[in-house]
Amino acid sequence: MSNIESVKVVLLGESGVGKSSLCLRFVTNEFRPYSEATIGASFMSKSVVIPMENKNSTSTTTEDSVTKINQRNIGFKIWDTAGQEKYRSLAPMYYRGSSAAILVYDITKPGSFAALQDWANELKQNAPPDLVLVVCGNKLDLNEDRLIDRGTGEKYANSIDAMYIETSAKDGDKVESLFLEVARKVPPP
Ligand code: GDP
Ligand code: MG
Repeated sequence: MSNIESVKVVLLGESGVGKSSLCLRFVTNEFRPYSEATIGASFMSKSVVIPMENKNSTSTTTEDSVTKINQRNIGFKIWDTAGQEKYRSLAPMYYRGSSAAILVYDITKPGSFAALQDWANELKQNAPPDLVLVVCGNKLDLNEDRLIDRGTGEKYANSIDAMYIETSAKDGDKVESLFLEVARKVPPP
């Protein structure tokens, strides 16, 4: 099963929350302390192999067939959008064709959490109803300066049927989990 499933993901959220940094960390495992603001949107791709949950795998015969059955090859196609208001009208071009949207805020910036809720409302009105949603609280390395607690983020994510995860693009903490959880939530074709 070498079929590659294409999973389109869009990152949305206020400027400066770390959308580009999350993409860069996931795709190249780098971090830039002084990254430049994204203009319009940028595109990145990365392929990963993820194990599938398979609770009924006892009947499979050889080790080989177990491996084949229990994995998915995912080709992420990631749209990293610009957060600025002037690019807002472009967002539907990116989220309409996507399987998942990652809504990012900065755990030290309440304004970015409010902005995330605006994005969620827009998606609820205009995006396909099966769009997988993830609320991502980034900059977990700045936990000491946190102004939105985890419970608040989780509760909000629950209220919009989204997954919730906290990440640090700087440390790399949970960045891979973020994308892998997204892939697991997107049903195979
Ligand atoms: P974007 O506008 O949402 O794409 O945000 P950027 O990825 O350009 O990041 C904005 C700023 O926050 C940059 O200076 C990044 O280096 C910084 N940044 C991004 N992610 C993190 C993080 O997890 N922790 C910390 N401390 N800084 C971060
Ligand atoms: Mg950016």
